[in-house]
Amino acid sequence: MKKLLVLALALILMMAVAAAEHVCAPSGQVRLDMTERWELCSCGEKLNVTTHDWQKVGGDMAYCKVCYSEMFTQSDGRVRLVAMDEQSEPCYRCFLLPDGTVEMSEAYVNTYDADGNLSTRAVYENGVLTAEYGYTLDEYGYPEQNRSVIYQNGMKTVPEEDDYGNQAYYAVYEGDTLLFSERYENTYDEKGNVVYAKIYSNEVLTREEKRATVYVENGGYYTNMVLEEIWWWADGGYDVSKNNEKGEKVETKCYNANGELLCTLTYMYEYNGGSADVASKETALKDGKLYYEKEFVQSSMGWWYEAKTTLYGDDGSVTVRQYDENGNLME
Ligand SMILES: [Zn+2]
Ligand SMILES: [Zn+2]
Repeated sequence: MKKLLVLALALILMMAVAAAEHVCAPSGQVRLDMTERWELCSCGEKLNVTTHDWQKVGGDMAYCKVCYSEMFTQSDGRVRLVAMDEQSEPCYRCFLLPDGTVEMSEAYVNTYDADGNLSTRAVYENGVLTAEYGYTLDEYGYPEQNRSVIYQNGMKTVPEEDDYGNQAYYAVYEGDTLLFSERYENTYDEKGNVVYAKIYSNEVLTREEKRATVYVENGGYYTNMVLEEIWWWADGGYDVSKNNEKGEKVETKCYNANGELLCTLTYMYEYNGGSADVASKETALKDGKLYYEKEFVQSSMGWWYEAKTTLYGDDGSVTVRQYDENGNLME
């Protein structure tokens, strides 16, 4: 009886060791080269390997009669390969250099519901996970992205939209540690446009926005244009700003925590830059006296940047700062 027990224990131990050993399983990541297509195990092992049977379809294009991969040979000798998943959706793309090394790659791991509709997608760039998306079916029965996680520089960003596609929340994590969050408490009009947003940074109210749909001359319109905003400061003071129909501030009233008016800023804009939408000069007055002037210039690449700032101190001092098109202070 005792010998039997020892044997049984030994058997259990052996089974435990076997379970701890790695058993290869497809990770969902597909890879291919010029000769084969395979699925990757997390250990790097090739699983479900198939050999291509390329069929030329004219020019420099070919497709595989076995796995439906595509091959395109460029005039510079580089080869672009595309593999398809079980729903015939592209799931791996890469460029091969003439010596066969992978120059760059993008992999999708797609999962589908029982009807074959896309339900999740993980994106790997050059083998590194960069994004995960979730989908639900829209009113017409097409998959619509409704959640995402973005991975960048060791940070994880989780944005969320409300049912109307307005930003509702985002959180930034380093590992599992929450670094920063912003939550939008939105009030809507009958079309789902936000008419009022309360914005909480790390769950503290920091901003309120009164928004509207603004119609412009050519018949177009902007939704969610911020026409009034309140910024709350940590000491209980707050700024109340009114904006013009381009979303630019025209007046800011600053209050302390007791609601006493501390100052009034008024802003004026000049549009001399050839575009009616981009100010070339912004002038601010504080309680009616010149406070600052900002001059904007179009960069060689086409964007507008702050090239010169002139600050007028209460003591009569004047400070001028000039910047290059990358925002660097110039001496
Ligand atoms: Zn394995
Ligand atoms: Zn193939």
